[in-house]
Amino acid sequence: MAFFDPKNKTITTYEKSISDKNASINRYYDEIGRLYYGQYKDMNVDNTKDINTRCEAVTRLIKEIEDLKLKILFEKGLKLCPSCKTENQLEYTFCYKCGSRFDIEQPAAEAEKPAEEAPAAAPAEEAKEE
Ligand SMILES: [Zn+2]
Repeated sequence: MAFFDPKNKTITTYEKSISDKNASINRYYDEIGRLYYGQYKDMNVDNTKDINTRCEAVTRLIKEIEDLKLKILFEKGLKLCPSCKTENQLEYTFCYKCGSRFDIEQPAAEAEKPAEEAPAAAPAEEAKEE
């Protein structure tokens, strides 16, 4: 394999993106925890909306990470069996392990669009007076 294989650069870019997304997920988990605790501690506080926004962001990021993992496999000349998740060579028509037929599909080569950041968590201690 060539030292400056452009495929490797693409894979590195995808891996970096996955790592960034994982960091974002962990940040959201932190915020969700704080928000949840805020309403546990004070029953007048309702952070449900803020919590849900972050849960949706996490779901979206997880999906994006799955897509990136598929793209990395694709760069390596592999694809996942939709049934048993076994890695197969791209050119296989049937999964070598479970025999499922592969649909003709390619991972979208489109550049991923950056995840929308949810607004930062409001400080949990702040008293809400209305
Ligand atoms: Zn399979």
